[in-house]
Amino acid sequence: MRPEILYSLFTPVTRLKGIGPNLGRLIERAIGNNLVDLLWHLPVGIIDRRYRPPVAEAQPGSIATLTVTVDAHWPPASSRMPYRVRCSDDSGSIVVTFFRAKGDWIEKILPLGSTRVISGRVESFNDQLQMSHPDHIAAPDDAEGAEAILSVEPVYRLTAGLTLKTLRKAADAALARTPELPEWLEDSVLQRQRWPGWRAALDALHHPQESADIDLGHPARRRLAYDELLADQLALALIRQRNRSQGGRAITGDGSLRDKVLAALPFKPTAAQAQAMAEVSGDMASNRRMLRLLQGDVGSGKTLVALMAMLTAVEAGSQAALMAPTEILARQHAATLTRMLEPAGLAPLLLTGRDKGRAREKLLAAIADGSAPIVIGTHALYQDDIVFRDLAMAVIDEQHRFGVEQRMSLASKGRGVDILVMTATPIPRSLMLAGYGDLDVSYLREKPAGRQKIATSVISIERLGETAAAVGRALASGTKIYWICPLIEESETSDLAAVEERHAMLRTMFVERVGLLHGRMKAAERDRVMSDFAQGSTDLLVATTVIEVGVDVPAATIMIIEHAERFGLAQLHQLRGRIGRGADASTCLLLYAGPLGETAKARLTIMRETEDGFRIAEEDLRLRGAGEMLGTKQSGLPEYRVADLAIHGELLAMAHDEARLILHRDAELMQQRGAALRTLLYLFERESAIRYLKSG
Ligand code: ADP
Ligand code: MG
Repeated sequence: MRPEILYSLFTPVTRLKGIGPNLGRLIERAIGNNLVDLLWHLPVGIIDRRYRPPVAEAQPGSIATLTVTVDAHWPPASSRMPYRVRCSDDSGSIVVTFFRAKGDWIEKILPLGSTRVISGRVESFNDQLQMSHPDHIAAPDDAEGAEAILSVEPVYRLTAGLTLKTLRKAADAALARTPELPEWLEDSVLQRQRWPGWRAALDALHHPQESADIDLGHPARRRLAYDELLADQLALALIRQRNRSQGGRAITGDGSLRDKVLAALPFKPTAAQAQAMAEVSGDMASNRRMLRLLQGDVGSGKTLVALMAMLTAVEAGSQAALMAPTEILARQHAATLTRMLEPAGLAPLLLTGRDKGRAREKLLAAIADGSAPIVIGTHALYQDDIVFRDLAMAVIDEQHRFGVEQRMSLASKGRGVDILVMTATPIPRSLMLAGYGDLDVSYLREKPAGRQKIATSVISIERLGETAAAVGRALASGTKIYWICPLIEESETSDLAAVEERHAMLRTMFVERVGLLHGRMKAAERDRVMSDFAQGSTDLLVATTVIEVGVDVPAATIMIIEHAERFGLAQLHQLRGRIGRGADASTCLLLYAGPLGETAKARLTIMRETEDGFRIAEEDLRLRGAGEMLGTKQSGLPEYRVADLAIHGELLAMAHDEARLILHRDAELMQQRGAALRTLLYLFERESAIRYLKSG
């Protein structure tokens, strides 16, 4: 149960005065449903209105606050002309302009002969100072209005339809309803760091006085970032504590199935794979529960390691499950494993959200009676009615698409289940703790021998014609090609149109050899397109980033990424990993539309220079530290509301240590500080971890 003290923060934004259903919907979409979401939506800039020069000295281009007398009203001659009002002080005059003003609004707000304080951007037009649509107009004795003008205003990130004024009002109203919360940090920490209390920190950040006040390094911001990281680390530590206490089981197979599968492979495991397999079987053989992350760049051969882990469980008479983030990937894993398992006389069972009715019941029965030793699926796997006879090994692919929570719910379908999490996103060592906590890690740093380097070039979109011609030549020689278009948000209609347009263009050139794949298509349709591409009837696949994760078509050796400047580094790396998977040399063309900003240029250069995922991850972090915002979703790291790991990285280790210390002293969070920490978990919506407390 959420503590009562937080009730006011978890009320819908629509409860605020002045936020009707329409505005409410905009805020919900852009920021979040509840007042607490407004609190975390921190200013990204300020507007300083303290510059108050005499009119004649106001610098064009600056934001100025002027005290003036209204001299003359010049209504427009036609509706397309502005309404102009001349205002002045002793030093000179300025013309205030309004387009499309309604009724007598201007006469009321700027009455002839009155004194008014106006604030806005000053411009100069034919040597005449002008201010178009002032942000503020107030009478000097209007306390509320004049005070607002004198202040420094916070600037929030907006979306269409939301104005700064609305958002400021909403944030202020949310702050007004924000209670003081019991302090969950230790006094000594607050003093050493010079951090304010939680509520004071929010107040300071939402009411900046200087641009330094909105800096990510500001003590108030660091305090809130630390709160968030601590909530996260505490949640992870609770889950781990529970995991530990549950104990595992010692699983050792006789190697019979593994040997058969290995013997039938056309290659030998790499040294890195062999090492990872040994680490996994060591964990499984101990009676501690395995919680291991298998980190390996795309194409490093994680599947084999996972398969060996699963077979070990099967040799021991138990079941294993593999969960993939998307249906395409689940199907692909099923196809790969069907092939690999054949020599062992086994076949995996595939369960996805599309299995319904009778067919689904049959699959569930096979899982329940154990006749399906290896089960592959999407999140459909952790639905309540799925019962395993004896699940001992859970492999979770590309886990950043899953929450910790989902990992655990699959594991709860068995007794002492060993968990192997596979991720293709190299994570800088310094950030491993985020989102993972204390997982054990196996690395596949070395790629299987015989892989050729991917030749990557960066070229201007102006050379689209040449590129298409080169594609034609490659198709003629039997190559398969990916053509990627950006679709940052699946909901962006304009992006979707761009993909469809590119598909149409390429189709007029190469006819039925061209396929189209995007996230708005139905799953069944996407699968059909993917298998057409994998199996041969289409050779050029125009796709959005839905192909990003794990798709394996070794015959595809060329990738064109359009608008490469719009992708984050991690994402570009993931995409490029779809090629260079076979024995043939591969080529990646990064098409950009100029002019390129500094970071975009740096990103593309790094892509051209290296294929080393670990290096790319480090560079990604560095660039994000330099203000890079793209690609956070693909970085494999959890998304924080307040913390930014590129800036607050060092707080992560501190939060990690503190979380451990907290549980060491008060494992069930029963003491006074424990109660405050529970509130912290609820505040950052990590309350699912509270279930892992005995008294949860
Ligand atoms: P990942 O999942 O890590 O991206 P995969 O497991 O899909 O990589 O492996 C990529 C490709 O490399 C597959 O076609 C796989 O058969 C092949 N492969 C895996 N291990 C080896 C190896 N030791 N030697 C040669 N090829 C390998
Ligand atoms: Mg074990």
